[in-house]
Formats: sequence, C-alpha cells, structure tokens
Amino acid sequence: MSLFVGDRVPTPVVGLNMRLLIRLGILFPKWAFQQEEDPPVRPRHRGHATFILLLVLPTVGLMIPNLAAAQQESRETGRFLFIYNAQDREHVDTLANLLDGVFSDLEGAFGTFPWPKLPVYLHPYAEYRSRFGNASDAHYTPQERAIHIGYVAMTPRSTTDLRMEAYVIHEAAHAFQHALTGLHPYAGSPIWFAEGLARYCERHFVRNSPFPTAIAPQQVLSPLDANPYENGYQAIDYLIARAGMGSIAQLFGRIANGVPFAQAFTQTYGLTIPELQAALRNR
Ligand SMILES: [Zn+2]
Repeated sequence: MSLFVGDRVPTPVVGLNMRLLIRLGILFPKWAFQQEEDPPVRPRHRGHATFILLLVLPTVGLMIPNLAAAQQESRETGRFLFIYNAQDREHVDTLANLLDGVFSDLEGAFGTFPWPKLPVYLHPYAEYRSRFGNASDAHYTPQERAIHIGYVAMTPRSTTDLRMEAYVIHEAAHAFQHALTGLHPYAGSPIWFAEGLARYCERHFVRNSPFPTAIAPQQVLSPLDANPYENGYQAIDYLIARAGMGSIAQLFGRIANGVPFAQAFTQTYGLTIPELQAALRNR
C-alpha cells in the first residue's frame, strides 16, 4: 500500500510550479535579478535581495508538500477506502454511496467480509496502464488486499467511463473469495470459478450496470477455462440455480477448512467438475 501514496510525489509538478513562481516574479522578483546583473551594484541593495530570497525560499518549501498532498485524497465509507485524485471527489462520493449498498448485498450472499475496509485505488487510465501494463483495466491484488481501477473519465454514467461500479464489484468478488477461503482466488479454485463468480456478481448485484445483466442459460461447448469469464458465468449461474446462493458460502467454508477445491466442490454440489462440464454441454 505504501507503494501508492508514497511514490506519487510529482517532481515534474514541483519543477513546473517553481518555474511558474519564477515567471510570475514571486520567487525571484525581476528587480532582484537586475540587482545582480548590474555591474555597479551597491552592497546595500545586494544584501536586500539576499534577505528577500531567504525570506521567500522557506515559504515555497512549505508550499511544495501541500501541492503534492492536494493531488490525492482518501475517503472512507462503511466498506471501502477510496484513494483518488482530489479533482474526482464529487464522482467518488456518488460511486461510494452506490457501492456500499452493493457490498452489503454481497455480504448477505456470501457472509460477512472479515477484513477491514477494502482499499480501492482509482487511477487515471494512462497512469494505470503505464503502471500495471495493458492486460486489464482493473485488478485485485492479493498481496496488498486492494483493488486498482483505471478509468477514462470519472463519470459513472457516461459512455466513456470504464463502468466503475461493475468493475469495483467484480474485483470485490475476488476479495471476498480471498477473504472467505484464505486463498488467492486463482490458487484456491480454477480460473473459471473465480472469474465466473466475479462476473456473476457484476450481473446480479450491481444496481445500474451498463453491462447486460440478464444472460440466458447457454450451452457451454468449450472447456470452462477456454473462456473463464463467460463459460465460468454459465457454470456459476447453473450452480446457484441448482443449489442456491448459500452453496457458495458452503464451498468457501470447506476450502477455508483445508479441503481441496475439487473435493469441496463435489461435497457442495454433488457433481464432479467433469460432470458439471457435461451438464453444461448437454443442456
Ligand atoms: Zn476478475
């Protein structure tokens, strides 16, 4: 976590502000330079200029940390800790109010989230991509137990945003699985299960999702991990229809008690994973 707030001291911005202050004549008033450039300088004036500089420099020194701190803010809600650029405060407020309610619904489905508030870092898109690569627009990091989201525009209803609510809830589903099983989602279950469950949460819990929410049951002809998001969604939808939402919490509980996934899965659903695949292929 220290990775993020700490390494954002914007040195180019400090340089820019120094240049701006110089240009505006605040840091080095023009007459101060003229006093130094003029050959026949009277010592009284040179001393005056030095005195002004000594007075001004500590003030600028005090301003720089404030400028840096103004870049990022954090906001704690009932369930989340958002870390974001100060200019996005208003949108984060809207998002936070929506998401707290959705998070409570997830707790109703899976069980109480046992960790403190879930950190959500909101990054401007270019920054997210330069920092985390091009593989995704959002991710959950088990090491940090935090969510990172890259956004194009912080406008939860616009067509250009990256569907903030759905993205946060997708990643929050991974955090739930991690918290309730004690295992990184990809280490504690197949990828189709982790991504299918996260997609299921996007579709069933986010209140104003711009993504399609009603996906009809479909045959799954390829192996589940061949398309872990959509095949996984079909599998999770099938399992919850068959055994109820509470079955996910039962499965998580078994994994938390050390039962390997495949065995815990069969104990919970009365099916092996190949039998699940056959059922999805033949329906
Ligand atoms: Zn995911």
